Amino acid sequence: MENTNEMTIVFESRPVNESLARVAVAAFCTQLNPTLEEVADLKTAVSEAVTNCIIHGYEGEIHKIWVTCRLKGQELFVDVKDEGVGIPDVKKAMEPLYTTKPEKDRSGMGFTFMEAFMDEISVESKVGEGTVVHMKKAIRR
Ligand code: ATP
Ligand code: MG
Repeated sequence: MENTNEMTIVFESRPVNESLARVAVAAFCTQLNPTLEEVADLKTAVSEAVTNCIIHGYEGEIHKIWVTCRLKGQELFVDVKDEGVGIPDVKKAMEPLYTTKPEKDRSGMGFTFMEAFMDEISVESKVGEGTVVHMKKAIRR
């Protein structure tokens, strides 16, 4: 029987909850015996995705963010979802250095970091409905 498990946490889009999301995902993945480096990569990717929901998705307003972790064998799937403004052009948004908030000291590297630190990432978004970032990482053993 393959190893499966799942959890979802829902929290308000407050900056203080970035660390909550990071730590929850890290705690969930310990059952796969990850290396410190794998945990650090995962936390970085989750932080970037959650920060995007807070800053871009909800533009500072307080609404809900969902983080789901799914485990299948040694593979970890993480989805980060908001019901915010959505992204008009996902392909463009994912380009390195592309940002719609340069005045807020954003560097446009969030998606690039997520891609670098996870094995796979895909983004589903609809303007006016919200955004889901799907990420996957295999934990070696
Ligand atoms: P950085 O992450 O380096 O601080 P950034 O957030 O602008 O800067 P990315 O994380 O790569 O860079 O995101 C690129 C762009 O995609 C953002 O500027 C924003 O326009 C859009 N975006 C990303 N996530 C969302 C989201 N959840 N909702 C709406 N727009 C988003
Ligand atoms: Mg970002």
